[in-house]
Amino acid sequence: MDNIRVGPLRYKVVELPIVKSEDGRDLYGEIDYVERKIRISTAQPEAARLPTYWHEVIHGILAQAAMHKQNNNEQLVTILANGIVQVLQDNPEMSEV
Ligand SMILES: [Zn+2]
Repeated sequence: MDNIRVGPLRYKVVELPIVKSEDGRDLYGEIDYVERKIRISTAQPEAARLPTYWHEVIHGILAQAAMHKQNNNEQLVTILANGIVQVLQDNPEMSEV
């Protein structure tokens, strides 16, 4: 993971030992729409990093579409992220399409 394009925007993806919210909470990941960075915490189990990465990508997709209400629905974002990761992992041939 280095850079990812979401719509017309390119985000730099960085892994860090600690990712904190603006109010000091520990996070698994975050997307920074201003600096165009996706930060992934390495403090979480390795198996959780890909769902976290997809979670932040989905935030980026929804933000790009100005779907703010859906973008603030963390449960929806997590369900979509986990679903995408599961489908891709269970159907590796999909990445060859
Ligand atoms: Zn989120």
